[in-house]
Amino acid sequence: MANYRHTLAAVDIASENAAVIDRALETARQNNARLTLVHVVEFTGTLYAGDIPLPEDLDLDRRLAEQAEDKLKALIAERRLGDIDHVVEIGIPKREIVRIAEEKGADLIVIGSHGRHGLQLLLGSTANGVLHQAKCDVLAVRVSED
Ligand code: AMP
Repeated sequence: MANYRHTLAAVDIASENAAVIDRALETARQNNARLTLVHVVEFTGTLYAGDIPLPEDLDLDRRLAEQAEDKLKALIAERRLGDIDHVVEIGIPKREIVRIAEEKGADLIVIGSHGRHGLQLLLGSTANGVLHQAKCDVLAVRVSED
């Protein structure tokens, strides 16, 4: 198996994420690799009310990102992960996850097989998008549906 040096874990703070974090910690430890947690706040420009696109609200995006940062920090404290590297970005999750992985030189992305959007599917849309667009290896962790 390749010796990974920097693992990026895609963490959806609104969904079940324990399996993703567990597996990312495990692979990072095994490879003596750096680990970065990433959460992306979906920017309001991609949100719809029925068929009508909602106007992008930069202020709302910023407030949501601040709340997400607090939640991610609470998760890190709860799991006693110390001063682990973490990033909160605003954008389209699959694009931002791939972009941040490239920017940070990550060689492995750990992602859940599905989260909020993929319960009926084999792979959720974020996982699928990352799998197709990432230039590095991607580990899709099966997320329990319970
Ligand atoms: P989905 O494609 O939405 O079913 O989600 C599949 C997986 O993608 C989740 O288990 C997370 O690992 C990741 N993911 C989904 N949304 C986000 C997000 N907003 N930020 C970071 N990772 C995400």
